[in-house]
Amino acid sequence: MTEKRPQSGGDHADHDHPESSADFTEHDWRRFLASLGENPNRSGLRETPLRVSKAWKHWVSGYAQDPAEILKVFEDGAERYNELIVVRGIPVYSHCEHHLAPFFGTATIGYVPEGRIVGLSKLTRLVECFARRLQVQERLTSQVAETLMHELQPKAVGVVIRCRHLCMESRGIRTPGEETITSAMLGELQTNLGMRAELLALGRER
Ligand SMILES: [Zn+2]
Repeated sequence: MTEKRPQSGGDHADHDHPESSADFTEHDWRRFLASLGENPNRSGLRETPLRVSKAWKHWVSGYAQDPAEILKVFEDGAERYNELIVVRGIPVYSHCEHHLAPFFGTATIGYVPEGRIVGLSKLTRLVECFARRLQVQERLTSQVAETLMHELQPKAVGVVIRCRHLCMESRGIRTPGEETITSAMLGELQTNLGMRAELLALGRER
């Protein structure tokens, strides 16, 4: 049997939805709880299917967001600014697509504007838009970088994301607290090694 697997770098989230999301109901979460050996009717679990349904709607709410829309409005005032702008500590909360387990940490975004800058809240929302989907950290990193490059058209974009993955830590595959660091460098950051080192250093610092 041949199965066509999506490329790890591709974004198949916006199409190829053969089943409607409405097909999975609270009843299915009750069946899931029962399959764990639990009694879905005990008082502590009675409201759990509803809560989990709501929580998952939030955790994957990024599918309904358009990243281009988030970056639509620019701020003025950077016409002659040619240096790296770095925003650190942007929160990342996502779920790995292999185990549906949380991975979380922070993102550092750097860019060299070409006349256009965006506010911190926009960068935070851009990260959320892609993090609130089923992800792998590598793809999350490149999606944020590529969208910024495409929409803002700066001279350079660099994104560094560091996250703890509960699927690895809780199963003993990684040491507790160990972080996975991914980066994506576009434009001048691909060739300007000094600028690249500066951004990577900032992304590594706590
Ligand atoms: Zn995983």
